[in-house]
Amino acid sequence: MTTDALAWIDEELAALDASGLRTTIRTLESPMDGWVTIEGRRLLNFCANNYLGLANDPRVRRAAAAAIDRYGVGPGAVRTIAGTTALHVELEQKLAAFKHAEACITFQSGFAANLATVPALMGPEDVIFSDELNHASIIDACRLSRAMVVRYAHNDVEDLRRKIAGTPTYRRRLIVSDGVFSMDGDIAPLDELCSAAEDHGIILMVDDAHGEGVLGRGGRGIVDHFGLHGRVHIEVGTLSKAFGVVGGLVAGRQSIVDWLRQRGRPFLFSSAMTAPDAAACIEAVNILEESDELVNRLWENARVMRQAMQQLGFNTGHSQTPIIPVILGEAPLAQHFSRRLFEEGLFAMAIGYPTVPMGKARIRVMNTAAHSPADLEQALTIFERVGRALAVI
Ligand SMILES: *Cc1c(COP(=O)(O)O)cnc(C)c1O
Repeated sequence: MTTDALAWIDEELAALDASGLRTTIRTLESPMDGWVTIEGRRLLNFCANNYLGLANDPRVRRAAAAAIDRYGVGPGAVRTIAGTTALHVELEQKLAAFKHAEACITFQSGFAANLATVPALMGPEDVIFSDELNHASIIDACRLSRAMVVRYAHNDVEDLRRKIAGTPTYRRRLIVSDGVFSMDGDIAPLDELCSAAEDHGIILMVDDAHGEGVLGRGGRGIVDHFGLHGRVHIEVGTLSKAFGVVGGLVAGRQSIVDWLRQRGRPFLFSSAMTAPDAAACIEAVNILEESDELVNRLWENARVMRQAMQQLGFNTGHSQTPIIPVILGEAPLAQHFSRRLFEEGLFAMAIGYPTVPMGKARIRVMNTAAHSPADLEQALTIFERVGRALAVI
């Protein structure tokens, strides 16, 4: 008798169950918004990266519906073979103008944008300097490129400079960092990374997934936040977080965008986001161009939540953005805390090792412009009640 070749999967899954590390995915019965419906109950939502509440904005919804009426749904094939819709071209032009970049190219996701970009620029003879806490999609993109990867200590430009000095042999070099780190909400010192890159003639790439629509004037991102226009070679972004839709982007010099249209494998070998996606993204950019009201409301909500959480006695770490970690300690406590919040009517995720270090398990509070002052008050009441019940505060 032969053994089942896939039996190991059942064993691994059982081990995840036993250690409490198996991720359960909640099923939503409503749009993604400040409130969501799960198991028939309305819950305050503090899980989503929907920073500006655009995922269910009526203008964005209408734009997507109108695009279906005009262009249908599916793209038919990859853009290089079957052509691209006028909507995708318009979106790329709008994003470039919004971000004050020479040009922009869009992808199916932020993950795909990274997988397209790093291997198109770097190969086996090259060296990539990568922040040790960079996002999984950057790590995978670096591996795909087969370049040598040198990790530097998180946000530590002195360590980066030491690593550059200690790596004398290369063909080309790249420095790559997240813009905003999503677990602690801290911001990369992009101005100092830029100086290091310029001092040594190294390509600089920032993945601004959590800064797009959040940082900078009217949400123009981390390059705008630091006033580094024209000095950061590659700005990767996502359209699935603050923009509320789905998709990824690379903004930068025209030559880089032209090169990615020739050599970015997810661009060449995978179909584009759909027409309604592109139309919804265009409308999201229009909304941001018209007014910074949503961005301001997001930051005001985050300020209120952070201050009140600290007054209650919670440890909110050192976030500089609307991501507020509520650091609790061990993973089972964070999971228990999240379950209690859920019972009380609030949806917020527990995050533990290995996503964050041992002993630093937390509830991650993702703020959004979609919450009213009354929503925040209600959320804080729930946090206080659960915090006291579990003797955290
Ligand atoms: C979320 C995230 C991504 C992935 O973006 P998607 O559009 O969801 O694929 C990539 N990089 C970073 C830093 C992120 O936070």
